[in-house]
Amino acid sequence: MKKDFYELLGVDKNASDDEIKKAYRKLAKKYHPDISKEPDAAEKFKEIGEAYEVLSDPQKRKMYDTYGSAAFDGAQGAGGPGGGFGGFDFGGFNFGGAEDIDISDIFSDFLGGFGFSSGGSRRSGARKGEDILVRVDLDFLESAFGCDKEMDINLSEPCDTCHGNGGLNPKTCKTCNGQGRVVSQTRTILGVMQSQTTCPDCGGSGKTFEKTCPDCNGKKTVKKEKTISIKVPAGINSGERLRISGKGSAGIGGGPNGDIYIEFTVKPHPIYKREKNNIYLDLPLNIAEATLGCKKEIPTIYGNVVLDIPAGSQSGEKLKLKGKGIKPNGSFLKGDMYVTIKVITPKKLDRKQKKLMKELLESDLETAEYKKLEKYL
Ligand SMILES: [Zn+2]
Ligand SMILES: [Zn+2]
Repeated sequence: MKKDFYELLGVDKNASDDEIKKAYRKLAKKYHPDISKEPDAAEKFKEIGEAYEVLSDPQKRKMYDTYGSAAFDGAQGAGGPGGGFGGFDFGGFNFGGAEDIDISDIFSDFLGGFGFSSGGSRRSGARKGEDILVRVDLDFLESAFGCDKEMDINLSEPCDTCHGNGGLNPKTCKTCNGQGRVVSQTRTILGVMQSQTTCPDCGGSGKTFEKTCPDCNGKKTVKKEKTISIKVPAGINSGERLRISGKGSAGIGGGPNGDIYIEFTVKPHPIYKREKNNIYLDLPLNIAEATLGCKKEIPTIYGNVVLDIPAGSQSGEKLKLKGKGIKPNGSFLKGDMYVTIKVITPKKLDRKQKKLMKELLESDLETAEYKKLEKYL
């Protein structure tokens, strides 16, 4: 049994679209697998995503309120032609061939509600255009501050020659008399079932053509290369996606356009590493600097700063530069920068340095840590 979608998002059944969106954003942030420390974050993230997908869409939400989550469980609930009738209650319908029954209506409305039928309006054969996934590489600084990117994508656009009809010289379809649908009767164990289906000859448009369009071969769309420019928001991380609604391939038969999804990969930086919105940097120090303390110039993404290294700094210790991390677009929180000390033991010494080291060795250098081991000698 699926969890209740309202419960998953922690909202009321009467919650407004805005409340749902807010609740989802909060949870998505909490359970995002890249940043979340919660156990089962990935699973939870998927669940709330599903819940949001349904509740954020008025049509799907209505379906959900009426039929419950079974409506979105393709195999069990949807039935579908050829499948079982699943969770439906057909009790109220009369299969005796009465005029007011329209089985295809039930199927197409139902399937149309969650997008794996031929979609949209069955009367016109409208179909949502193809979604397109584009992968974009970003430099570290481009991802940190955001940037403008141009990219070439291949989109299906309505064919100019036939105006997206697929053919030339339209005439009324003889099979359906321009209705776009035909009535068929099927004999079943329940009696004769009458159903209306999309006209096979005109695909529901009510029109046929004297000539198939030579430019698109009747496909109604042609592939075109298009350059799009996008504003990449600051703070994008590897693996994150942006969706540009309605800018994908053209819909067919008046259906809506598909979407463009842009997936980002942030190229590794020579010195910076990112974790959540924090930036990590290794700072090599020689033993004298680490021992005596020093001032060091540090490159941050906002410019250089001078950092005070305390005397007696150890390898692995981290110093924090507050607010020098990444500030994602629309977020109040700014990440920090952490400078990790790496004490470098010299491999080459000149004669003078060697002499100084020997003097150090003969002096009583601190060896408190080693004393712990001596107990076991
Ligand atoms: Zn027809
Ligand atoms: Zn054409």
